[in-house]
Amino acid sequence: MRITYLIFSFICLTAIFPHCTPPAAFKADLELQNEILRDSCSSGSSDAISIYAINAGPTRVYLLVASGGMVLFDTGWPGYERKILKLVRLLGRNDLKLIVISHGHFDHYGSTAAIKRLTGAKVAIHTDDAEALEKATTPLPLVRSLGIAGKLILPFGELMMRPEGLKADILFEDGFDLSSFGVNGRIIHLPGHTPGHCGLLLPGKIALVADLITWDTHPRSQCYFADNWSSIASSLKKLKDFAPEKIYPGHGKRYLTKSQLMALTPWFPKDN
Ligand SMILES: [Zn+2]
Ligand SMILES: [Zn+2]
Repeated sequence: MRITYLIFSFICLTAIFPHCTPPAAFKADLELQNEILRDSCSSGSSDAISIYAINAGPTRVYLLVASGGMVLFDTGWPGYERKILKLVRLLGRNDLKLIVISHGHFDHYGSTAAIKRLTGAKVAIHTDDAEALEKATTPLPLVRSLGIAGKLILPFGELMMRPEGLKADILFEDGFDLSSFGVNGRIIHLPGHTPGHCGLLLPGKIALVADLITWDTHPRSQCYFADNWSSIASSLKKLKDFAPEKIYPGHGKRYLTKSQLMALTPWFPKDN
């Protein structure tokens, strides 16, 4: 029975994450340059911010680089610290000041403890997801469609990846300002996927939105994993009200445009 479960889990894992390479097999030196996506933003008198998107397992993490310091938004699966910090070295920098964790799922905080150890950067998360980070858990209370398989394989993923928990240095709420860490950005609380799920608003109407939006064959409002489906709908509206021009999700290959965001509709249980 246990072997059947393991085989089933492996098949599901392969099917859901076809583009993932396990950390152990990752060839950082060869692949790093090709995987980085770079964007930049600035507004008025604020410093320009370079945005580097890096694939860390199935998760996209974002390194924000400004003259006053660097901030990392999410850290991906466990074992990706080497890849992320290689980029920091390539940039000739050693001033990673803050790691912002979008929410308490291990595919987003997996390399956090290792990066903190190696850089001394402070770790920040919303108050409502701090316990999941500290206990290295990944709560998935409500699932549907592909999310059902995700929940089934979660114990297998945790067994393989062994995510490491840690106590955050900073617990934030909606509106938390990152400028004292060198980057002109502001936290936006977008609950629903998890209670403390957050995004980041940057100058130039750029938004990092983690798992509020999911991207499989095409971008859509999170419809697989939820703590509260109605809150996801409210968060999507809150993001639309901000009217960002570019929206970077936590999974997927590209950003969404404003018109793509405006076309998204939330999934409700009553739709089923
Ligand atoms: Zn998540
Ligand atoms: Zn995720």
